[in-house]
Amino acid sequence: MTLPKHGLSKQQVVEALEATRRGDARWQEGRTFGMVYDAGPEAHEVVEAAALMFLHDNALNTKAFPSLGKIQADVVGIAGDLLHAPEGAGGFMTSGGTESILMAVKAARERGRAERGITAPEMVVPISAHAAFHKAAHYFGVVIHTVAVGEDYRADVDAMAAAINDNTVLVVGSAPQYPQGVVDPISALAALAADAGANFHTDACMGGFVLPFMEMLGYDLPPWDFRVEGVTSISADLHKLGYAPKGASVILHRTKELRRYQTFVFEGWLGGFYASPAMQGTRPALPMATAWAILHHLGEDGYKRLTATALETVRRMVDGIGEIDGLAVVGEPEAHLVAMCAAPGWEDRVDIFAVGDALQERGWFHDRQRPPESLHSTVSAGNAPVIDDYLDDLRTSLADVVHSRADDRSTNYATLE
Ligand SMILES: *Cc1c(COP(=O)(O)O)cnc(C)c1O
Repeated sequence: MTLPKHGLSKQQVVEALEATRRGDARWQEGRTFGMVYDAGPEAHEVVEAAALMFLHDNALNTKAFPSLGKIQADVVGIAGDLLHAPEGAGGFMTSGGTESILMAVKAARERGRAERGITAPEMVVPISAHAAFHKAAHYFGVVIHTVAVGEDYRADVDAMAAAINDNTVLVVGSAPQYPQGVVDPISALAALAADAGANFHTDACMGGFVLPFMEMLGYDLPPWDFRVEGVTSISADLHKLGYAPKGASVILHRTKELRRYQTFVFEGWLGGFYASPAMQGTRPALPMATAWAILHHLGEDGYKRLTATALETVRRMVDGIGEIDGLAVVGEPEAHLVAMCAAPGWEDRVDIFAVGDALQERGWFHDRQRPPESLHSTVSAGNAPVIDDYLDDLRTSLADVVHSRADDRSTNYATLE
């Protein structure tokens, strides 16, 4: 493709883009179990209004846009309140879970160097921890130890303890972890980190805007947030079950001192003093303003309602899968993430990836993952209206592909191009 010689009209541009997206996942119909989380038409109107207002603005310099400084402080404040951050905690908005995690790792590395003189930093993560921790290890030169999980897919505390050493700057647990949706034993893991003088990060990218409302709804959850003493940082994604448009997450640190290890300031440039909280320089205002907008539009009531709907949908999905011979749920998911596999004893007849392909032909989108080979669902309120249709199509898809095998064995959480 080359740049058009003569510019296109608005109508031409819109038509061309519409044509481009014809093959895209049909999240608007609730048929996508991941990537886009839909809080309904009224919520769309609110975020679209905020998006139009802030589309062009830039949070690079909040002296030019004081509103964005306030918006960030408000959003971080709300997240801190939900996650029981103590007085004196601090944080920032970032572009997403990955950037929040990058910053947690960078802060842990800096703290290890400053307070413990560690020049060869290491971190310890369960194999269920998000790939972003490996990206951070790669970017920031931190050696990463990946530890097998227990049979219930939760982090194995003894095995994690055995991987910690004098160079450990960070220990990680997830609430919940992405692949099977279980919550790691955060209290025990955070205590290990505290004993080692290391940071502990709870990755609540998925759970940050779900678990607090589950607790309000009366679910019994093990402690995982700042109420656990050794937890030094938490990531929580607004653009997942916070139902904000893409590009919004929060990273919180227990104290302002810990937060200082995240940031970058530089005085020696001809362009003037440079300070930035995270990876970006120029920072789009749109994700910040739309996140603020959805938090205020939904409020505690709205999130409780959406959380209840998502969890009721999970229950129907899990029960439905359980009623289909040949399929099973992996582990015991605790929140809104469900992995589905061939039932034990059915592996020779049921190829779960072939089931996934058949579902995709019917317009349903899951991520594939392994091990074990499974189809992953991030369930949100937007899936509720169609969950019975889904279960019907799941039955039909399974019947269609029983005894056949998909040639393509690739998994596809994220792609390069
Ligand atoms: C989504 C997710 C991330 C990464 O977040 P992005 O916004 O995709 O960068 C990290 N951890 C968990 C548990 C996640 O589900």
